[in-house]
Amino acid sequence: MLQRSAQERSSLETPLPIYLDFQATTPLDPRVLERMLPFLSGPVGNPHSTSHLHGVTASKAVEVAREQIAALIGATPEEIVFTSGATEANNLLIRGAFQGSESTGKRSMVTSSAEHKSVLEIAARLGASGTNVRTVSVNSEGLVEPDRLAAAIDDTTTLVSIMAVNNEIGVIQPLAELADKARSKGAWFHTDAAQAVGKVRVDATDFDMASIASHKLYGPSGIGAAFTARRLRKRIEPLLFGGGQEGGMRSGTLPVALCVGFGAACEIAFVEMEKEASRLLQLRDQFLAILRERGVAFEINGSLARRIAGNLNIYFPGVDAEALLMRARNIISLSTGSACTAESLEPSHVLLALGLGTERAEESVRIGFGRSTTAAEILIAADALTKAVAALAKVGYKAPDMER
Ligand SMILES: *Cc1c(COP(=O)(O)O)cnc(C)c1O
Repeated sequence: MLQRSAQERSSLETPLPIYLDFQATTPLDPRVLERMLPFLSGPVGNPHSTSHLHGVTASKAVEVAREQIAALIGATPEEIVFTSGATEANNLLIRGAFQGSESTGKRSMVTSSAEHKSVLEIAARLGASGTNVRTVSVNSEGLVEPDRLAAAIDDTTTLVSIMAVNNEIGVIQPLAELADKARSKGAWFHTDAAQAVGKVRVDATDFDMASIASHKLYGPSGIGAAFTARRLRKRIEPLLFGGGQEGGMRSGTLPVALCVGFGAACEIAFVEMEKEASRLLQLRDQFLAILRERGVAFEINGSLARRIAGNLNIYFPGVDAEALLMRARNIISLSTGSACTAESLEPSHVLLALGLGTERAEESVRIGFGRSTTAAEILIAADALTKAVAALAKVGYKAPDMER
């Protein structure tokens, strides 16, 4: 019998398709599931009903989770409010900050053109109801320049919102410098840190408010957190009213198992983050090396140096990205950008914000590597992508106008 090549062997052992969309969501870490199970299968009390031991047990578990989340960003547990995810945290913090500061007469918001849609939509709504919204452009690397940000902030600015890590191109914004520009003019600095927390060191002293999503760091979906520096807490108007849970900031019964899972995910990330990042960096380099070796024409969108280890966003000239994803979909699960933009068939607003043009935006794909990614998967994925690019470039494929 013929000797099988290493690549064939690994493809026999690796289940397909290979998941490479870790910026859209991350799989639940089995260790997290393990910690959640007792709270899903056993009797669990309402964590707000502490007149009995069931409730006390639940409440204690939730508070441990709050400490784990706080520890990961260097905050205190009282500064963490549970939400359903980063979208809700963005809404609570940004809308709540404006509602809570109406009496100050300050009514302007500053954000960037490469933000997540949830922040841009909130900004658009605020803009429609009388808030002066200024959108700072990012440079060709995808970074917000501190001086450019400073120029947009004045004494009417209530809040500046700049994401910590971009969900499409993975670039890491210089948060401390940006926050400094906001604070020196008396504005609050919020960051959507959904892609940063658990991937890179995030320090709560670098911002006044932050949004976190559990499902981006190998925790369960449907839970997240809003961080608010203690001194600002009373200045945020809640979105949800009711039983007054979470210190009145977010009413509603907490989902104990999700809180526990989110906390466990933060604890694991705290311990493993650095080691995992260097592992992913090696895999990413290996992936790029294969593309180069095989002569694939490509360019990276956004700064490669200032980027989280688990992300690439690659432009393949002359290759329609949607066609590429379709062609390779039985082997690799990739996307063109954010989960929401993918549905709409619109070119990525982030790539356009970098000034890359519609055509390049339509010929770019996002590749996300994560905790379950193996060296064998990298070989198979690079091979599949190389073949798909070659096939599409050869036939000069263009999707019909209708679909573009
Ligand atoms: C995923 C994501 C969100 C939305 O988070 P949910 O928890 O899914 O609501 C917001 N911002 C960024 C940058 C994200 O990556």
